[in-house]
Formats: sequence, C-alpha cells, structure tokens
Amino acid sequence: MEYNLDLEQLDCTRDRGGQPYIIAGPCSAESEEQVMETARQLKEMGITVYRAGVWKPRTRPGSFEGMGSKALPWLRRVKKELGMKIAIEVAQPSHIFEALKYEIDIFWIGARTTVNPFFIQDLADAMKGLDNPIFVKNPVNPDLNLWLGAFERLNRAGIRKLAAIHRGFSYFGPTKYRNVPQWEIPIELHRRLPELPIFTDPSHIAGRRDLLQEIMQEAMDLNFTGLFIESHINPDAALSDKEQQVTPADLRKLLDSLVIREPEVHDDRVKNTLSRLRKQIDLLDDELMDVLEKRMRIAEEIGRYKKANNITIFQNTRWNEIVGKRLAQALEKDLSQEFVDKVFRAIHQESIKKQNRIMNEEEERENA
Ligand code: PEP
Ligand code: MN
Repeated sequence: MEYNLDLEQLDCTRDRGGQPYIIAGPCSAESEEQVMETARQLKEMGITVYRAGVWKPRTRPGSFEGMGSKALPWLRRVKKELGMKIAIEVAQPSHIFEALKYEIDIFWIGARTTVNPFFIQDLADAMKGLDNPIFVKNPVNPDLNLWLGAFERLNRAGIRKLAAIHRGFSYFGPTKYRNVPQWEIPIELHRRLPELPIFTDPSHIAGRRDLLQEIMQEAMDLNFTGLFIESHINPDAALSDKEQQVTPADLRKLLDSLVIREPEVHDDRVKNTLSRLRKQIDLLDDELMDVLEKRMRIAEEIGRYKKANNITIFQNTRWNEIVGKRLAQALEKDLSQEFVDKVFRAIHQESIKKQNRIMNEEEERENA
C-alpha cells in the first residue's frame, strides 16, 4: 500500500510543541450560529481543522439525522472567514459530490460505513482522482481486516492521503465505555501500516465527558498521531451525542492537562536504565515461554490419556477449579482479576485446541 498524508500540510498542529494533532468540532452542524461560534472559539485556541457531521448515521430512527446539504454553506463560511480546514462524514457518493460543491477539504468515513465493503467500494469509486485527505474510522465490530480492507480499496482507487480514526468498538455487556477501546487493534494497525497516521476519537469511545481525559492520555502514551474530538458551544443542548461533547473552553483544559511524553530516548543514563530493565523483562519472557511450552506438553499428554480412556476434553469442574484458584491468587499478587482471567482463558483454549487435534487428527492419521 502507498500512503503519504502530510500532516504538516494538513496543518492541524496546535501550537504546543508539535504534539498532538487536533481535529475538533461539534458532533453535528445544527445551525449557522452554532457552527460559526464553535469554530470561532476553537480557532482562537489554535485549532485549525474543524469537524462537523452533516448527514448523521443514527443507530435507531427517530433521532436527529443531521441538517444535510443545508449545513454545507455554513461550513464553507467557516473555511472562508476563519481559514479553517473542514472535515465532514460521507457515507454515500452523493454526499461527496454535494460536499465538493462547497469546497469541503477532508472526508471521514464513519464506523457504520467501514463495516460494509460495498459501501466502501462505492465511496472509493466516487473518490477516484480526488486529492482530499480521507480519514477512515474503525468498523463498529473489532475486525482489523475490515478496517485494512477499506484502506486497500481507497488505495486502489488512487487515494494516498489516508489516515485512521480509532473510535472504539461495539460491546454487548457491562462496560464503562460507549465503545470499548480495544487498544490492541489500532496498535496492530500501526504495526501493519507504520506510516499511517492514527487519530483517537475519545468522544465516541467515552460516550461521556468524565472519561475523556483518561482516554486522551492513553492515546498520547501510546504515541498515536492526534485527537479527533467533539466540541460544542452548548453541549447540554446538542441535538446529538450531548453527553460526550465539551465546550471549547473545557476542551482547552483537557488538552492542557495532557502529559506529552518523549517517544524516543536521548539521554544515555535513561537509555542504560531502560535497557537494564528490559533485559530483565526479556529473561522473564524466556522463562514464561519455557513454562508455556512445558504446560502445553503436559496438556498434550493428558489429551492422549483422555483419548485412550475415552474421556471428553472439556471438564467443567476442572476448569472452574483452575479459574477459582488463580483468581484468588490474583488478589494476593496485586494482579487484576480481569487480566488473570484473560491469561488463563487463553491458555486453557490453547490446551483444548491441542487436545482436540490429538483426539481428531491423530485419529484420522490412524484411520488413513
Ligand atoms: C461522529 O463522528 O459523529 C460519528 C457518527 O462517529 P462514528 O462513525 O464513530 O459513530
Ligand atoms: Mn458524534
């Protein structure tokens, strides 16, 4: 894949030592006054790229679905009068054609669109020959391939100015987030496409104001490129996503509170200390690998024994016993139970997989 969005050219650096890049604005463009006043206040604090939803994909019908084309002249006014670059969401080719008439600079593809390769292909076809930066939000479901597939389709259509927006993933069950961040997914995206800028959208991950700070800080600590965040002059009266929007003044406070750490080490003393500690980690990881190897060997032996004695692989009482014991131990060792639960679940699944292979594949081989 080829991609080369020049963020300097996009000029979304707030004047705070080069980090982070910021794109901000209301969830939805609601009225000319709201659009202009929010933009004025954001511009005043050094933000130069303005986001606003014009066509809003709402999960359920009956809520505000955006002002549509009517909002485009308001955004053009922000561009002309304040010199900001404008970003809007597009979900259909007609949105792109309409937006181009009003000189919209940047398009983002929403989470509910990235899930569908037909939609993405239609957008990619409509974008052929465009020079506008295109930002792609992660799909609502935690599927890295769908996200990658969207970049590939756009890339095949000749789009090079690409960036990702991490906005979290749908989750059924109790969670403090509106969309769980699953940071490992954007981290893996970064490993696969190292030059692709990744913006974090803390607003849609959080769903509420009081969580924004920790998510923004986490994005900075993971060294992601920038933030894509919702801000509204009067959040409580917002027509969409009101719980997660903050006033420009509150956004400034949030940005000022961020600790921006160095991604690279320059100081030799710091380098030496880090490398000594990392050696210890490497040694422990070697031990962990050895232990895992031994544990799997025994699991395989048990598999062969179960097979010889015609016993099922999964035994609920045994599994409950393992989990119960290790979760209790987690507390003593100051490890979170959630973490220990995940580790043991993964190990147990791998053991089952290995035993399954022994029971079935070795059987096929015997029969062959
Ligand atoms: C938005 O940015 O307002 C939006 C609709 O986002 P998402 O596609 O992440 O739900
Ligand atoms: Mn929103």
